[in-house]
Amino acid sequence: MLKIKDLYAGIEGKDILQGINLEVKAGEVHAIMGPNGSGKSTLASVVAGKEEFEVTRGYITFDNEDISELDPEERAHKGIFLSFQYPVEIPGVSVTNFIKTAINETRKSKGQKDMPASEMLKMIKEKADMLEIDRKFLSRSLNEGFSGGEKKRNEVFQMAMLEPKLAILDETDSGLDIDALKVVANGVNKLKSEDNAVIVITHYQRLLDYIIPDFVHVIMNGKIVKSGTKELAYELEEKGYDWIKEELV
Ligand code: ADP
Ligand code: MG
Ligand code: MG
Repeated sequence: MLKIKDLYAGIEGKDILQGINLEVKAGEVHAIMGPNGSGKSTLASVVAGKEEFEVTRGYITFDNEDISELDPEERAHKGIFLSFQYPVEIPGVSVTNFIKTAINETRKSKGQKDMPASEMLKMIKEKADMLEIDRKFLSRSLNEGFSGGEKKRNEVFQMAMLEPKLAILDETDSGLDIDALKVVANGVNKLKSEDNAVIVITHYQRLLDYIIPDFVHVIMNGKIVKSGTKELAYELEEKGYDWIKEELV
C-alpha cells in the first residue's frame, strides 16, 4: 500500500529525514518509535504532504502511484489520514458538520454526489455507537474547550467516519492520559481490517499494550535504524534507546 524508498526530506535546505525505507501492506499495523527530535513527526507530515517540507531525494508511492506531487487534500482523498497533533478550534462548526463536509469533499473529488442525509445520519450513529461516543458530543463546537480525551475522541470519530486506507496517528509524548490512550487504541482496533493499514507513532510503549503492532521501527537522526516485532517495543521500554546507538557505532 505505502512504499517509501530512500526518502530524504527537510526544511530550509536541511534534511531531517535521511534515507527512510518503509513498506506498509494492507492489514498491517506499524509502530514508529524513537527519541525526541528524531524525525517521527516529520515523516508523518511528509507522507501526508505538508507543504513546509521538501523532498530532496527518494519517493513515496501509495497503491503503486507516486504521490510526491500531490497536495495534502489530494492525499486525504486517496485515503491517507493523519491525526492532528494540534487541532484547531472552529466555534460554530459541530463535530458532525465538520465530518459531513469532509466526507462530501472526498466524494466530490471522486466525482460522486453528496452522501444522502439519511445515509450520513445512519453512518454517524453507527460509528458513534461503535466508539461509545455520546450523541451530545457530536453537536459540540469543534475542539472548543475539548479535554485531551475529547480531542482524541473527535479524531478517532473522524477516522472511523472517513474509513481511511492508511491512518497515521502521531501521538505526542505529553498530555495523553490513560483514558485518552484507550480511546485511541479502541478506535484503531475497531478500524483495523485486512484492507487498511495503521502507522502509530509513539514515544509510549504503553500505547502498544493496547494496539498490538505487527512491526516496530526505531527512527534515529532521520533514519530507521532498527525494525522488529512488538518485542522490540518492550526492549525499548526496558532499556531505552542508548543500546541501539551503541550498536550503530
Ligand atoms: P520527533 O517527532 O521525532 O520528535 P520531529 O520530526 O518533530 O521529531 O523533528 C525532527 C527534527 O527536525 C528536529 O531537530 C526538529 O527541530 C526539526 N524540525 C521539525 N519541524 C521543523 C520545522 N518546522 N522547522 C525547523 N525544524 C524542524
Ligand atoms: Mg517531538
Ligand atoms: Mg513528534
